[in-house]
Amino acid sequence: MKYIGAHVSAAGGVANAPLRARALGAKAFALFTKNQRQWRAKDLSNEEIAAFKRNIADCGFKPKHILPHDSYLINLAHPEIDKREKSIAAFIDEMERCQALGLELLNFHPGSTLNRISDEEGISLIAKALNLALKKTAKVTAVIENTAGQGSNLGHRFEHLAAIIEQVEDQSRIGVCLDTCHTFAAGYDLQTPETYTRTMQEFERIIGFSYLKGVHLNDAKVTLGSRVDRHHSLGQGLLGLEPFRLLMQDPRLDDIPLILETIDDQLWAAEIALLYSFIPA
Ligand SMILES: [Zn+2]
Ligand SMILES: [Zn+2]
Repeated sequence: MKYIGAHVSAAGGVANAPLRARALGAKAFALFTKNQRQWRAKDLSNEEIAAFKRNIADCGFKPKHILPHDSYLINLAHPEIDKREKSIAAFIDEMERCQALGLELLNFHPGSTLNRISDEEGISLIAKALNLALKKTAKVTAVIENTAGQGSNLGHRFEHLAAIIEQVEDQSRIGVCLDTCHTFAAGYDLQTPETYTRTMQEFERIIGFSYLKGVHLNDAKVTLGSRVDRHHSLGQGLLGLEPFRLLMQDPRLDDIPLILETIDDQLWAAEIALLYSFIPA
């Protein structure tokens, strides 16, 4: 079964996110558990946590189909130790917020070398940060997102994600989120049954579907291999609708959150309905 939703706003409190997702006809959703552009946030109150848990139960969402996303400021590969430590502390705080909300996953972007260290050094810094964060928390799985590879961002090659996983001590609490726009921008095609199959075989060989904990469903404003991160609404970008039809027919995507991060939230309900219409009866 497919669990499709969108990255909805948590404005007015995290407990509003499941209500917004239900209004879209979603069976999954993503959210920020704090303002994604600020370092600090006050702790979630017991009332906020209780309201969130009540709303996800009332709306019929399961924690494994909810994919919280961390702050954009965090860079676990930052070459400067004080900045990296600030990022690690913020990441642990994000993990703890997820845990307090009864959530099981935290989606994050691996990090950036800022062109001051090698990719290998950046990858091992990320793995070290994850080892620390996983030790300091108990339940949440850290879900690395593949990136478009813009600037000095790591994670655009499947090999980067595999190398991070390899250096993580508790591999039972590490996962991967595939973003369709990032995958395409990074040079992995998905547009025809043949290229889709080839890219997914590559994913299986290098990382393995057992690590796949979520997918971001985005069309792309950019061309194959451009290494630029620009999402578009489904069917309006250069990916077109075919990859999404193929994804909806792929049983390896069953039972994980499939999340729209497309640019026009007015289209989300229609996009979710369209995706559900692609699933064979
Ligand atoms: Zn994404
Ligand atoms: Zn993106």
